[in-house]
Amino acid sequence: MNGAAFFLAVNFIIAISFSLVFAVVSTRSRSRSAALWFAAGFAVASLSALCELLVAYTDIPKFWAIGAFATVLAGMILLRGGIGELYGRKIDLRKAVGFLLAGILLDMLIYDLPRGTALHAFPYQTPFAFVILTSAAAVFSSTRRLTIDRALGCLLLVTGLHFFAKAGLAVVAGAGTTAKDYIHTNYALISQSATAVLMVAVGLTLLSVLVLEIMADERSNSEKDSLSGLANRRGFENGVKAALTFAPNDRHALILCDLDRFKKINDTYGHHGGDLVIQAFGDLLRASAAKSAVVGRVGGEEFAVFMPSTTPEMAALFAQALRGGTMGIAVSALPSSFTVTASFGVAELAPGNDLASAMRDADAALYEAKRSGRNCVKQARRQGVLEPAAIKAVK
Ligand code: GH3
Ligand code: MG
Ligand code: MG
Repeated sequence: MNGAAFFLAVNFIIAISFSLVFAVVSTRSRSRSAALWFAAGFAVASLSALCELLVAYTDIPKFWAIGAFATVLAGMILLRGGIGELYGRKIDLRKAVGFLLAGILLDMLIYDLPRGTALHAFPYQTPFAFVILTSAAAVFSSTRRLTIDRALGCLLLVTGLHFFAKAGLAVVAGAGTTAKDYIHTNYALISQSATAVLMVAVGLTLLSVLVLEIMADERSNSEKDSLSGLANRRGFENGVKAALTFAPNDRHALILCDLDRFKKINDTYGHHGGDLVIQAFGDLLRASAAKSAVVGRVGGEEFAVFMPSTTPEMAALFAQALRGGTMGIAVSALPSSFTVTASFGVAELAPGNDLASAMRDADAALYEAKRSGRNCVKQARRQGVLEPAAIKAVK
C-alpha cells in the first residue's frame, strides 16, 4: 500500500468513526436531525476512499472515479444540510439533488480532459468549494454567534478555499495523466492528507457545537423545576447572581411567596389538585413579572421573585397585585367557589448585602404575613425590622 492509499484508508476510518459518533450524539442532542445529517454525510463521504482505491486497482476506473467524486460531493451536501438545520439555513432538497446531479455530469464531461491542467482541475474542485463555502455563509449569516460558531465558520471558509488551492497545486505539481495514475502521485499524497486534516477539524468542530449544546441543555435542565417550569432554587440563585453583575450598585427587591394552607388543598383535593395550583401560581408569576425579574420555585409551595433595580416599596405594590391575582386563580380540579391565597414577604437587597441575608429578611417578613392571618404582604424594612406593606392587605 503506497502513501496515498494509506491516507485513503485513514480517511475512510476517520469518516466512518465520525459517522458513528454523530449517530450516537443524535440520541442526546436537541439538534437531532442535524446530527443525523452529519452522520449520513460522513458515512457517504467515507465511500469515496473505497472508490478511489478501486479506481487504482480495477479495470473500470472511470466508474469508480466518478463514484469517488459523487460520494464526496454527496457527503458534503449532507453536511451542508446538517449545518442548515443547526444554523437555521435549511437547504432545498430538490436544489441539492439537482446540484449533485449537475456536479456528476460536469465530472463526466471533464473526465477525459488531461489531468493536472487548469481545465480539468478547477471544474473538478469547484463544486466541493461551492458547497463548503455556502456552509460557511450559512454559519456566518446565522443568529448563533458563539466563539465555536465563529471557529466553525472560519474553518469552513478555509476548507472551501483549500479546494481551489488543490486545483492550483494539481496544475503545478501534476495529478497523473489518468485517473488510474492519480493515486501514485505526490499530489495525491498531499491532497489526501490535507483533506484528512480538514475533515478531522470540521468533524471535531461540528461535534463540539453539538456537545456544547447538550451541556447547555443539561445545565438548564438542572436549574429548572419541571412542575412549574420556573427556575428551581439553584437556577434562581444563579439567575440572581447573573442579574447582580449587571447592576452591582443598585438597590434590588426580593419577594418570597408561600401558598396558604396548601396542605389542606392537598388533603381535600388530592396531590394532583395541589400540583395544578402550583402550576397555576407559577404561570401567574411568569406572566406578571417583568422580563428582567428572576422568578423561581424555591421550595414545595414557596416561590421567589427577584426584581432588579427596584425599591422594596415598588416590590410590595407588585406583591399586592400578585396577591389579588392569586385569588383569581381558577383550577379545574378545584370547585369554582374555592379561592387560592398566598402570603408575601418583601425585602431589600442593598449594595454590599448578599442574597442569603435578603432571603432571611424576606422569610421573616413572610412569617409575619402568615402570623397576621395570611393572604397579605409584609415588608422587611431592614434586617429584623418589619413593617406593613406600602398598601395594607385587603382581606
Ligand atoms: P401555611 O399557610 O402556613 O403555609 O400552611 P401550608 O399548609 O401551606 O404549609 P406547610 O408547609 O405545612 O405545607 C406545605 C405542603 O406543601 C406540604 C407538602 O406536602 C406540600 N407540597 C410540597 N411540595 C409539593 C408538590 O410538589 N406538590 C404538591 N401537591 N404538594 C406539595
Ligand atoms: Mg404554605
Ligand atoms: Mg411553605
